Amino acid sequence: MALHDNVGVGDFVLLDRITMDDFIGNLHTRFKSGKIYTYIGEVCVSVNPYKTLNIYDKDYVNQYKGREQFERAPHLFAIAENAYQTMRRAGKDTCIMISGESGSGKTEASKIIMRYIAAITNVSGHQEVERVKNVLLQSNCILEGFGNARTSRNDNSSRFGKYMDIQFDWKGDPIGGIIENYLLEKSRVVRQQEKERNFHCFYQLILGGSDDDLRRRDLNRGPESYNYVSQGGITRVDTINDRQDFRNVNSALKSLGVHDEEVRTMWDVVGAILHLGNISFKNSESGESTSVADISKGAIETCSRLLGVKSSELRRSLCERAIAAGGQVVRKQLTSEAGIYARDALGKAVYERLFIWIVNRINEAIRPVKNSYGTEKRSVIGVLDIYGFEILDTNSFEQFCINYCNEKLQQLFIELVLKQEQEEYRREGIKWTHIDYFNNQIICDLVELPHKGIISIMDEACLSVGHITDQVLLDAMDQKLKGHGHYTSRRLSPSDKSLIHAQDFRIKHYAGDVTYKIEGMLDKNKDTLFQDLKRVLYQSSNSIISSMWPDGAQDITKTTKRPQTAGTIFKNSMIALVKTLISKEPYYVRCIKPNEVKSPILFDTERVEHQVAYLGLLENVRVRRAGFAHRTPYERFVKRYKMLSRRTWPNPRGGSMKDATNAIISDLRLGKDDAAVYGNTKVFIRSPQTLFQLEKARTNM
Ligand code: ATP
Ligand code: MG
Repeated sequence: MALHDNVGVGDFVLLDRITMDDFIGNLHTRFKSGKIYTYIGEVCVSVNPYKTLNIYDKDYVNQYKGREQFERAPHLFAIAENAYQTMRRAGKDTCIMISGESGSGKTEASKIIMRYIAAITNVSGHQEVERVKNVLLQSNCILEGFGNARTSRNDNSSRFGKYMDIQFDWKGDPIGGIIENYLLEKSRVVRQQEKERNFHCFYQLILGGSDDDLRRRDLNRGPESYNYVSQGGITRVDTINDRQDFRNVNSALKSLGVHDEEVRTMWDVVGAILHLGNISFKNSESGESTSVADISKGAIETCSRLLGVKSSELRRSLCERAIAAGGQVVRKQLTSEAGIYARDALGKAVYERLFIWIVNRINEAIRPVKNSYGTEKRSVIGVLDIYGFEILDTNSFEQFCINYCNEKLQQLFIELVLKQEQEEYRREGIKWTHIDYFNNQIICDLVELPHKGIISIMDEACLSVGHITDQVLLDAMDQKLKGHGHYTSRRLSPSDKSLIHAQDFRIKHYAGDVTYKIEGMLDKNKDTLFQDLKRVLYQSSNSIISSMWPDGAQDITKTTKRPQTAGTIFKNSMIALVKTLISKEPYYVRCIKPNEVKSPILFDTERVEHQVAYLGLLENVRVRRAGFAHRTPYERFVKRYKMLSRRTWPNPRGGSMKDATNAIISDLRLGKDDAAVYGNTKVFIRSPQTLFQLEKARTNM
């Protein structure tokens, strides 16, 4: 039996006792013998093996294809198969939500799932479907090149959130997809912490580009010469082959049908940003104005050329700021500090627009093709791979958003897996022992409630007139959130030693306490870029670049609505994401990181315990164990299995659907008396084995 591997149990539900020690013990035993997947019912727990396992090839695919989950050893393939079968058989949209902290294996899992789906579809070898599968898979390496970076925790860390719908036709073959991306960590473009890198693409170009590629962009092979890619003190990473990746990204772009000119522009923008970062400023004698330093002459010229803008214009927009006053444009001189600020704001914005353009371009390439069947209903499998919960040495706006996102997903998990399950038993009048779990709604509220939540308070501060500083924001937060059990700050808890700086505040997240730095929050939330800079790029002679800046066409003297803040945009995108996910049949992959040092043998019990606790896995097992593997309305059950009993086939003997269900189950003598429990409208089947037996009996008829 697949669930009783030689080592440990394949489903935590089968543990004798459900304690943290037993849970961790089982996980550890399995990890030691290379069994990285374990179920909790239909949830798959995955431990990052930090080594290549030989469990994803064609033989393995064949083992899982068309099978029931419980027939084979736990594997991601089985989860993908479940989602696929549900989508095909029931015509339902499904989604696979992959969660876990940075470096736990989410992105790898999402790729394994995509490859499995590609492997089991298109048995007839239809050429167009092959193309679609290929571009869906190829899109990963482009997105990783531009959206991933080496961080202190993961050499290939996703610095954006990704949700991808794979769309299928009625035959169950993939016909396209659509990618939604969430908040790219663009501050990385201009600033990297110790031992971290900028996004991979910068190094790919410098180290992997041909001599021509470099000459065209006036670049040399030493990443160390560029301020924007060398601050972390590390430019090469053992596990990453930038040269090869440059080739892979380009060939992926080609196979997606991205035109040469577009590809050239993408790398031109990357090159331009490298030069932009090397521009420095010098103050005038009075200190009131600034100009681009003489040594930066080459940098600004090349940067302008690559962006297709006039260098005089770029210079001016970095050193001055246009302000509308009474229908007139007034130019204000900037200090060199403000010049650097403008330069970095431009670098971040140019990169962000490029990234969004790339995602859109990929979406264009994978948009489902209209086929001869016309407007048939399509089903989708969604795959969510989004940044995990993060606690860094310094946590800022980005971590705040990332951790809020994780709160939302945890809330969804509670809603779908824990709460709904218990509520259904209550509704159906089934005896049930209540399982306690921590409901993190209170933390979601702390962040997102209108007027009272942190995002609202930040927005209010951003919209206020007058000189609002981060300190003013912190004061407002302290005032409004005082007494909230999940918020505190230095001023509210002066004796708290972990709040070292006066400028810190702390949120007690479901996954742990995180101290955030208030400095920079307002600015990152406002996320404004001077209209001047937008206009310069809009006027680029390169139409691809110009198309990334439609808002640059706006006339500065026309008063326009304030753009939404980054916090509010993010909040709305999270709300929309939850809405999308909740409308689909969910499958879960919970990823766990075994240690901090990327070791294939080390199992850091304390770290794993922490993750198991905050992912709510023990509660998950308890709810699952107290619960039932399968439930279905009586009518549906009878319709499917009526041929298995003389009392229901060929002619039903009267009585209710509930009686008929009972007749089928008892006639089949499916083991123990409590194999099924009869609720008000549904039958609840305790063990997956029972369901399996039913299915088998049905096929053998
Ligand atoms: P982040 O939130 O930072 O994006 P992540 O959860 O997406 O992190 P991954 O990038 O998927 O983490 O995994 C980190 C590294 O762990 C991979 O680059 C790979 O080296 C290793 N790894 C993860 N899963 C597997 C696996 N199934 N087999 C082999 N190695 C793996
Ligand atoms: Mg990732």
